[in-house]
Amino acid sequence: MADQQAPPAGPDLSQGISLSEFAGATLLGHVGDEDVLLVRSGSEIFAIDAHCSHYHGPLAEGLVDGESIRCPWHHACFDLRTGEAARAPALNSIAVWKIEHEGNRIFVRQKREQPKPRVKGSVDAPARIVIVGGGAAGFAAAEMLRRQDYRGSIVMLSTEAAGPVDRPNLSKDYLAGTAQEDWLPLRSDDFYAETSIDLRLNTEVTSIDTKARNVVLASGEAVPYDRLLLATGAEPVRLPISGADQPHVHVLRSLDDCRTIIASANGARRALVIGASFIGLEVAASLRARDIEVHVVGLEQRPMERVLGPEMGDFVRALHEEHGVVFHLGDTVTAIDGKRATLKSGSVLEADVVVVGVGVRPRLALAEKAGLAIDRGVTVNAYLETSIPGIYAAGDIARWPDPHSGEPIRVEHWVVAERQGQTAARNMLGQREVFDAVPFFWSQHYDVPINYVGHAEKWDAIAVDGDIAAKDCLLQYKSGGRVLAVASIYRDVASLEAELAMERARR
Ligand SMILES: Cc1cc2nc3c(=O)[nH]c(=O)nc-3n(C[C@H](O)[C@H](O)[C@H](O)COP(=O)(O)OP(=O)(O)OC[C@H]3O[C@@H](n4cnc5c(N)ncnc54)[C@H](O)[C@@H]3O)c2cc1C
Repeated sequence: MADQQAPPAGPDLSQGISLSEFAGATLLGHVGDEDVLLVRSGSEIFAIDAHCSHYHGPLAEGLVDGESIRCPWHHACFDLRTGEAARAPALNSIAVWKIEHEGNRIFVRQKREQPKPRVKGSVDAPARIVIVGGGAAGFAAAEMLRRQDYRGSIVMLSTEAAGPVDRPNLSKDYLAGTAQEDWLPLRSDDFYAETSIDLRLNTEVTSIDTKARNVVLASGEAVPYDRLLLATGAEPVRLPISGADQPHVHVLRSLDDCRTIIASANGARRALVIGASFIGLEVAASLRARDIEVHVVGLEQRPMERVLGPEMGDFVRALHEEHGVVFHLGDTVTAIDGKRATLKSGSVLEADVVVVGVGVRPRLALAEKAGLAIDRGVTVNAYLETSIPGIYAAGDIARWPDPHSGEPIRVEHWVVAERQGQTAARNMLGQREVFDAVPFFWSQHYDVPINYVGHAEKWDAIAVDGDIAAKDCLLQYKSGGRVLAVASIYRDVASLEAELAMERARR
């Protein structure tokens, strides 16, 4: 999270500036001790809060597109006129300020009353919407339904003990001990009561009766729906090896999992992370922040090579080694006996705490049992509707026709899950919105963020611009000369521009 103590930047906008002082697309100033950003869009000038409502990213370093501005950090997007968080990961609007013109000077003195979000209107609003899942997609859907002024009933069912939380934080700042637990909830408990969202925790849905249109809970209770959203996410893969069921061997998905790992890490001297991909390495970085010796065992020769390619893989390995992580690559753990883990190579590693991060499987059981079309995920159409009308799917379980790659794809990205939840919400209200967002994810290792836009399962060339080792680079993953995806480190505007270019290519 960003430091909010910095002194206000730029000119005091309450004293006014002359139009000639505002030459570019944006100008950062302040009113009192609040940072305010002037943004030019065509012939109009807007004034908005200068920071993203997601992680406080600097909007002054973002990208203006028509009447919207995108955050450089995690690609949230805000409506300049209303301040609405038009695209996840931001969910809260930002303030818009009133601009007063006096001669050739403009003044900003006060916030405007928060304008209402743009509501498209319900064409055919159902009386009862049930959401299975209290994660990224489920929460974003519920929040969007209320934002769209939906007045009907919303029941959100989740097996988790905690309400929707900022899951990406669980392998990063929270696990590292640098984020407080009260930063994690996506909304306070009051929100659900105030917005009449019937959030039921520790509640498992065991089946769907698609004829009677209800979901059946483990308690036997049937909850009726007119529209249903499945957002059951993914389950960490557990290792089928002896000793994997011991109390110091963990997976990480929920807040409960994370609390258990933290308790196990307290007082631990050495940790073993099994899996050298995103979650495993973020966990490694966070445990290093707790000053625990960390060993990472991974089957691959280079961490993250399958997604990011060899050059970035080498960089990620070197970065973690600089921070003291010891890799055992091209190897795997065959058994864990108490604190002793035996590797396939024959080595033995001792560890007080073990975290297994070897991938996830989409939770498809409910959808399969209900007879929905499945293809390595729940098959949905461009509107995120499954093969049974009235039932939608979003997030890690959904395989959707991605207009950018031209193929049905399924990804495990926070922002995609949220944006799909938002689109599914609008479509459950009868709007016909195609889900066409360009996939985006980020990953954080120590002070190095890696941003990725697009989707490339395979490529025939990687064009590297800049210097990966210097943490200043943009990599384009290409097939037949076409850019499928772009990964970057500290090239935030270029990453936003690549996203926009991909959107426009699709248009
Ligand atoms: C530790 C961690 C760090 C991550 N970091 C990043 C990151 O940096 N960047 C990124 O892009 N992505 C990241 N991800 C991935 C991202 O969190 C997921 O892609 C996203 O959460 C998927 O959202 P979802 O709604 O599909 O599933 P989830 O958020 O997993 O939510 C699924 C929900 O469904 C509920 N559920 C499942 N089955 C049932 C049932 N039968 N009955 C009732 N409820 C049920 C679960 O309890 C849960 O509440 C991370 C994931 C983890 C675990």
